[in-house]
Formats: sequence, C-alpha cells, structure tokens
Amino acid sequence: MSPATVRSKTADVEKDASMRKQKEMMAAHYDRLTSAPETGEKVCSTFVPGNINELIGCFDLVNNLPEVNAIQNGLRRTSGQYVLEAEKIGHSEDVCTYVKSDIGMLAKGNVAPNGKPFPNPDVLLLSYTGCFTFMKWFELLREQYKCETIMLHTPYMGDGKITPNMIEYMVKQLREEVIPKLERVSGVKFDIDRLRERLGRSAQAEEDLVHVLNSARRRPTPIDAYFGGIYYIGPIFGAFRGTEDAVEYYRFLRAEIDARVAAGAGPVTPEGDMAAEKYRLVVEGPPNYTNFRQFWKMFYDEGAVVVASSYTKVGGVYDLGFRHDPRRPLESLAEYCLGVYTNRSLPMRVDMLSDYIEEYGADGLLINSIKSCNSFSAGQLLMMREVEKRTGKPGAFIESDLVDPRYFSAANIKNRLESYFQMIEQRRAGERSAA
Ligand code: SF4
Repeated sequence: MSPATVRSKTADVEKDASMRKQKEMMAAHYDRLTSAPETGEKVCSTFVPGNINELIGCFDLVNNLPEVNAIQNGLRRTSGQYVLEAEKIGHSEDVCTYVKSDIGMLAKGNVAPNGKPFPNPDVLLLSYTGCFTFMKWFELLREQYKCETIMLHTPYMGDGKITPNMIEYMVKQLREEVIPKLERVSGVKFDIDRLRERLGRSAQAEEDLVHVLNSARRRPTPIDAYFGGIYYIGPIFGAFRGTEDAVEYYRFLRAEIDARVAAGAGPVTPEGDMAAEKYRLVVEGPPNYTNFRQFWKMFYDEGAVVVASSYTKVGGVYDLGFRHDPRRPLESLAEYCLGVYTNRSLPMRVDMLSDYIEEYGADGLLINSIKSCNSFSAGQLLMMREVEKRTGKPGAFIESDLVDPRYFSAANIKNRLESYFQMIEQRRAGERSAA
C-alpha cells in the first residue's frame, strides 16, 4: 500500500498517514518528558528557532519547547484560560501570548497535553535568535525554577550576511560556555563523534523535507505549505532533529507526497482532498491556533492553497540550501542559528517572500499579523508594499493572534479573504483583456 492511500478519518477529520505518524511521535515525546522524574532523564528547556537539538541530544537531555506547549494548548483550546491567568498575575495584554499561555499553565499546575505534570527543567538553554521576548521569557522561568541557565547569543543578520567572525564568536560560546555547562548539568562527557552522527541524520531529514516543500511548485500543488506545512515541520523543528525517528518520518513523508504527485492529487484538508486549486498564496506570519481548523477552512473552501510560507522557516531555512554538516560540527550549528528566519533582517525577508512568489507561481502575498508578536508584526505592512512593488502581485493583510481566542474574529478575516480573492480575480481578468 502506498503511503498516500493510508488515510484515516477520526472525529470528523481526515488525515494522511504522515500526519498520524507525526501526532504519535509528539505523544511519545510528551510521555518521555513527563516520565522523566521516574526514568531519571534530565530535561532541557529551549526554544524552536535556533534550537541546537543535536548538541542537547549528545548529553542525553530531553528537550522541552515552551512555544510548542503553548501551541498544543491553543489547539486544545486551553490557552485562553492560561492567558487570562497570566494577565491576572500582572502580565500586560500586549505580552506575547505564547509566554502568557506558558506562565498561566505554570500557575495552574503545569499539566502537559497527556494530562501529567511537566517535570521542572534541569537547564534553560536560551539560543537567542532575534526575538527579545525569548530572553524575558526565560528570565521569568529562571526565577521560577532556579536552575542552570545558558545563553547562546546569535548576532543579528543586520547586513544580510554571515561573516567568519560571527561564526567564530558563536563557536567560542559553544566551546567555552554551552558545552561545559551542559556537561556539568548532565554529567555526560561531550563526544564530538556523537554530534557528527546526529548532524548527519539531520542533513538526511532536511533533504527530504526540502523535497516536500519544493513539491508545491507543481500545479496542482500536492501540499499546503502553511496549514499542512505545520504538521510537516513538527518533528524537525521540535524534539526530533538529529534522531533516527526524524530520518524515518521524513523518508515516509517524502514517499507519501511523491505518491500524491503521481496521482495528480492536491493537498489533503481536514475534509479530504482539496478540490480544484484556484488561488496560490505565499503567507507571512504564524497561523492562529485556537481556531486552526476554522481558519484553514476559509482557505480550502475557496480553493486557496498556500504554496510557501515564512512560518515554516522559523526553525531553519533548509530550502535556501542550508544543511547541518557533520564535517564542521560546531560551525554548522552556528550557521544554522544565524540563518533561521527570526534572525533575518527585514530586507532579507522581503527578498525571500518576493522570490517565493516568483518561484512558486503565487497569486500574491497574504500577511497574518499577530497581535501579540511585537517582534514580527513591526514592519509587516512595509514588507507587503515592497513585495507588491517588486512582484506586481497584490498583497492582503489580516490580523489574529497565536493562542489568544479573544483575537480571532472569524467574520472579519473571512470578509477580508473573500475581498482578496475577488481582487485576484479582477487582476486576472484585467491581464486577460490586456493580452
Ligand atoms: S517571535 Fe513573536 S511569537 Fe515568538 S516569542 Fe517572539 S514575540 Fe512571541
């Protein structure tokens, strides 16, 4: 049986086999994490952008990613009460709702998606890649847990390039700060060959992920690179990069997408295969998670599919050519952190989004501006205008929030999307008559 034919329908939602597999991997990871007090495994909290999972794994630490926990709370619709709890404690309405979901969850017993309590972290590893909120977030957690805290500082790519001294600066931090502290916390001696093996596995998985992302250049695209893309990036952005599980998952996903291509199928949606592809979009900004399925439906009901997105690059820009390199282990970790989307300057983001519109044959750029993400919402209107100017394709702007249900206004978003699709139709009609 080919992977594409292995479909399941549970609770009214149709899923490809890879989506089910991904869910099982996440569940197994949460079980491993919450069993840490019994198994004796030590826990390292860290963030998705710039996570150095291969190195963390060398010390037998289990990683815990607070943004992923907030997303899970959003999808399960528990984040709303946590956000309110954090506001009660004194966090302002403007604070990133990932942070408030995390802090509120902590105040209400710190329960993981599997219903068991999260263990306290043994170490907080802040790999800083562009968002100041991450630093403040870990300051709050440090107060709470009073555990070892490590900071790996990634210089911002303000000039749009990675210079040798940026890499040297990061390698020095890895050698002199990060590795010795991880050795001390874990009690495990660093073994560079173990790191090389993990980096080799990362590169293999990255190759397969890029094959999947690039498949969206086809017409019809076999994937949705935003709503579906969030499933596809889960293992590599989360706890699995560098593991055999990730290699196997991406091999499986690649075969599944190849089978969709061979069958001439469009992307899978929660209601089965998407019908005719009418609009191809590039999207900037994260999705809303509290109303994820409702949000997605507004697209596939109209025949709109996302062919490329910046959000699926926050944990690595593999499609631009980066691969972890076992021959240059520490340098490669540094280059990875430097290159992630959150560390890219506004002009670099404009270049990337404009290129996506050309390369993926998109009809335009849609920005989902996140109310509480001050780091990334600033400058988005300017970016949209610049992309419009360069590509000649229309842009549109909608607003929502990550995990705060108070800021998802379905009627407003639907109206704006419908007007945008009409605008694309009018452009097409104009182009036809001009031709
Ligand atoms: S990038 Fe935005 S969403 Fe992510 S931590 Fe920073 S403020 Fe929050």
